[in-house]
Amino acid sequence: MRKFVIAGNWKMHKTLPQAVALASDMKEGLRTLEEIDIIICPPFIALDGVRDAVQGTKICIGAQNMHWEAEGAFTGEISPPMVQDLCTHVIIGHSERRSHFGEADTMVNRKVVAAIAHGLTPIVCVGETDDENRAGKTREVLDRQTTRALAGLSAQQAAAAIVAYEPVWAIGTGRAASPAEANETIGLVREVIGREFDAPTAAAIRILYGGSINPGVWPDIIAQPEVDGGLVGGASLFAEDFIALAVQTRAAYAASLRP
Ligand code: PEP
Repeated sequence: MRKFVIAGNWKMHKTLPQAVALASDMKEGLRTLEEIDIIICPPFIALDGVRDAVQGTKICIGAQNMHWEAEGAFTGEISPPMVQDLCTHVIIGHSERRSHFGEADTMVNRKVVAAIAHGLTPIVCVGETDDENRAGKTREVLDRQTTRALAGLSAQQAAAAIVAYEPVWAIGTGRAASPAEANETIGLVREVIGREFDAPTAAAIRILYGGSINPGVWPDIIAQPEVDGGLVGGASLFAEDFIALAVQTRAAYAASLRP
């Protein structure tokens, strides 16, 4: 059974004191939800403070990005060993990294490989743009992004990674994919993983949905059989909403375990 995940991507929001305050506000509400994996991904400068703020809970800390080299002359970048000191997870290939900072599939792959080499679980983002969706290219885009992002991994490494299907047209737009769309497209990504690796890997890997998740739409999406959790942007900046999403995720996980 795939353990469900709820992950919050705080993006470029919150100063250090604000981030610590938000994590402290979330801590109690999330403490008892240990059946699922809960990951919060604050900005780099707040990783240490947020990690301290949630100490004593099972909440995991993730980075939003990192370089693939262990060290070197890369001004402004953060390396895997730096991330590894503070985090268990790292988001790789978010569509905002791809579109604003030119991250291509090869770069995404280097980062995924580096994350695994440093004992970090990558949360690998894939997703088609609105234009690609309208042009009927969703399958082609997701096949390419998924295949290239996971290239060179062993089946065991791939199975332990997390993929997030985030349609670009749904991110920050208030227009989430329908439950059926999310289910079908995640099924497609799983199919690609089955072809590139094997059936057990496809059955084991967790694939999340991301894009305008809020507590109003989430129960119907997370109830879909292919959806193993969510990557949340905007709603993760509000303790009450993120806790509600985590509670809903735990309820869906419990329901999925019932025969
Ligand atoms: C995201 O950026 O990963 C995301 C899913 O954002 P939002 O929930 O705000 O659409």
